Amino acid sequence: KEMNTRENNVAKIKVVVRKRPLNKKEISRKEDDIVTVGGNALTVHEPKLKVDLTAYVEKHEFCFDAVLDEHVTNDEVYRETVEPIIPIIFQRTKATCFAYGQTGSGKTFTMQPLPLRAAQDLVRYLHQPVFRNQRFKLWLSFFEIYGGKLFDLLSDRKKLCMREDGRQQVCIVGLQEFEVSDVQIVKEYIERGNAARSTGSTGANEESSRSHAILQLAIKKHPEIKELKRNNDGNESKPGKVVGKISFIDLAGSERGADTTDNDRQTRIEGAEINKSLLALKECIRALDNDQIHIPFRGSKLTEVLRDSFVGNSRTVMISCISPNAGSCEHTLNTLRYADRVK
Ligand code: ADP
Ligand code: MG
Repeated sequence: KEMNTRENNVAKIKVVVRKRPLNKKEISRKEDDIVTVGGNALTVHEPKLKVDLTAYVEKHEFCFDAVLDEHVTNDEVYRETVEPIIPIIFQRTKATCFAYGQTGSGKTFTMQPLPLRAAQDLVRYLHQPVFRNQRFKLWLSFFEIYGGKLFDLLSDRKKLCMREDGRQQVCIVGLQEFEVSDVQIVKEYIERGNAARSTGSTGANEESSRSHAILQLAIKKHPEIKELKRNNDGNESKPGKVVGKISFIDLAGSERGADTTDNDRQTRIEGAEINKSLLALKECIRALDNDQIHIPFRGSKLTEVLRDSFVGNSRTVMISCISPNAGSCEHTLNTLRYADRVK
């Protein structure tokens, strides 16, 4: 009963903005911090020039479910975004937590510690008396969408494909899932997966900014021994039915969606794919928010993969990351407008 009450208290969609501090380079260039935060509102002070070249500032105000300024720690981010969802994962909830924003705005910095904290809490719940006899287990997988293709980050970037079963469940064929019972192992998988992210010739950050990284933690009900025997179809590592899950998605740099006129053909194709996926994501979240029956999953690989997280009892947290420096103003405004549309 108590849990039901809590479930109703967790908003279906939550949009949070996180501002990072100015970095050394920006400080050494004496760039202005143009973002001020007050409560759950923020203002962007856009530097502009009149035709006669006199400078002025145009203010843009936004309001979100929460705005986290540069002093907020990763721990506080966790408490604001993911922690409230943890108890309802055990009640057939599919949750997704996205980090959106331009490259360098803090997506990976924000996203990396979250699954570890979530796993810690999930494991703690598993050991509670109510769940102890339920044969629940925690499973982890980690993959990447790059140029519209799926790669397993925990098995040598093996190429994966997606299949839909008759009940509209998505299945990623060949994706390795690992049972995790202690948190140290989770940390190792996260590090291993991050190290396996796309790193082309142009350098790690450059390439990983063109991919979406998806880490999933699923609670599954382990089949009873007698069920295992009955269903013995040679597939030994059947982990059982999904009770609930949470996906952590470090999205491609939002500015990459604009790479559609680049001279390099590959870059152009990737840019078009990213643009398509970020638009489709926005449309799906909006449809979800309006309780639409038809959710436009098919718009992109990203939304197709997340299909089962957009139906039924779902929760979505969007963390929009922004850079504070004047030079990022245009990207910051684009990110905030995107977040505003999702809200
Ligand atoms: P993205 O993944 O969006 O490209 P990163 O997470 O890699 O961006 O962040 C870019 C740089 O800024 C990194 O060096 C990171 O450590 C730093 N950074 C990001 N957010 C914060 C923050 N809130 N506090 C301190 N440093 C940050
Ligand atoms: Mg990153």
